[in-house]
Amino acid sequence: MNLIFLGAPGAGKGTHAEILSKDVGIPQISTGNIIREALKSGTEMGLKAKSYIEAGKLVPDDVVIGIIRDRLAQDDCANGFILDGFPRTIPQAEALDKMVRIDRVINLDVPESLILRRLSGRRVCSNCGASYNVDTRPPKKEGICDVCGGTLVQRKDDNPETVRERLKVYHEQTEPLVDYYEKQGKLRTVHGTDDTDSTARDIKNALEA
Ligand code: ADP
Ligand code: ZN
Repeated sequence: MNLIFLGAPGAGKGTHAEILSKDVGIPQISTGNIIREALKSGTEMGLKAKSYIEAGKLVPDDVVIGIIRDRLAQDDCANGFILDGFPRTIPQAEALDKMVRIDRVINLDVPESLILRRLSGRRVCSNCGASYNVDTRPPKKEGICDVCGGTLVQRKDDNPETVRERLKVYHEQTEPLVDYYEKQGKLRTVHGTDDTDSTARDIKNALEA
């Protein structure tokens, strides 16, 4: 199945794309992770993206569309994939529609008050990228990744000022995609407010419906 996870920053796209990816055996493709990797290894694309990411702005469409085009051409996408963080604008969605057929779009709906709490408590592993939350999903040992023992850090773009900008960008540029996929009959909205397990169940049900 070719899937998209849509939702505001902090809605839980990454968490649930990862759970479903392991469950179903199709790759999770996170443009955010790909860009952060490029930033870490200092590639040209990473350098180009740096100022946008750190300001909470979107990286230009042509850059992310190029990333996705290359990634979807790889062998492991042949039986399906989960897009996490792409598309984020109407032009990105239109470019995607020209590349592949999308089966379903899961819209993770979470109220803004909860989003703000989640983002300020989020910590990520500096080594493997695994995600935690100091309030709701703490690691077994404070500051240390359960998976790989790496050090947990706060993402630079999770500071309050950048979070506000990211939410504004979400409302202006990404939210119109809800309508876009609704019109195609592909959208399934799931409330992402409950605990991780029940949301994961709701997502599976929504995919079967
Ligand atoms: P979140 O969904 O929590 O905001 P991501 O890790 O998905 O975080 O994205 C982090 C940043 O990477 C975004 O704020 C943006 O700058 C950039 N980015 C990721 N995906 C895209 C995209 N599809 N289009 C433009 N920029 C993107
Ligand atoms: Zn780790």
